[in-house]
Amino acid sequence: MKNIIIAANWKLNKSPAETRSFFHAFNEEFKKRSSYTQLGPKFQVVFFPSAISIEAASQSLKGSSVKFGAQNIYSESQGAFTGENSAKVIKELDGEFALIGHSERRQYFQESNSLLNKKIHHALKSELAPMYCIGETLEERETGKTESVLLAQLTEGLKDITASNGKSLVVAYEPVWAIGTGKIATPEQVKDTHAFISKTLTQLGLATIPILYGGSVKAANAQELIQIPHVSGFLVGGASLEVASFVDLIQNSQV
Ligand code: PEP
Repeated sequence: MKNIIIAANWKLNKSPAETRSFFHAFNEEFKKRSSYTQLGPKFQVVFFPSAISIEAASQSLKGSSVKFGAQNIYSESQGAFTGENSAKVIKELDGEFALIGHSERRQYFQESNSLLNKKIHHALKSELAPMYCIGETLEERETGKTESVLLAQLTEGLKDITASNGKSLVVAYEPVWAIGTGKIATPEQVKDTHAFISKTLTQLGLATIPILYGGSVKAANAQELIQIPHVSGFLVGGASLEVASFVDLIQNSQV
């Protein structure tokens, strides 16, 4: 049986009050379906609320096995870095993960593979599990560049990450053209690309790192996608914003 992680990226959605009310309903619904949703090291659920709502998530999830983290951290934990997020503060709030290199960060905030590499090292030193996002644009896929783009994102972003210092690392493959578009990569595309990522991670000495798929995943396609080799779970945007759709998705991601 594979270890599975289902992660929710809320992007810039949900205020602290909306976060509390989501978790109130989520915790109830989750308890009702607990025979389907046993959490532990083999099946993890992780939320990434927006920065201002992290404290509300932390309070709402006290005593729960559901985890949370930040959508972004800076490569330093304190100092003159106006507007940035501190890994140390996320940790103090009991956060366990940091999403690093989401395509929206790469696209709108010009985050490069080398900056992301610094953030990954900083997350690991700060005892946050980095969830490193990679993926090609539509133009890159259509011009046959998918593998070279992923190779650069993996080799540059994971520079000097080893099996011993990178134990908690997770990689999330998200084809940029499938994020928030309703366009899902075909099972064949997911299978081939995950096989390539797995082979590359093995060459980098990181064979056991889980690889999540992201891009318009929902309850209706989760069961098919989770069966694909080297798919260890999902990073979910839109379908994680409503309790019922997300709990359905979690339930359909059991293997
Ligand atoms: C994402 O934001 O990482 C994502 C995969 O979004 P969606 O599920 O809405 O495509």
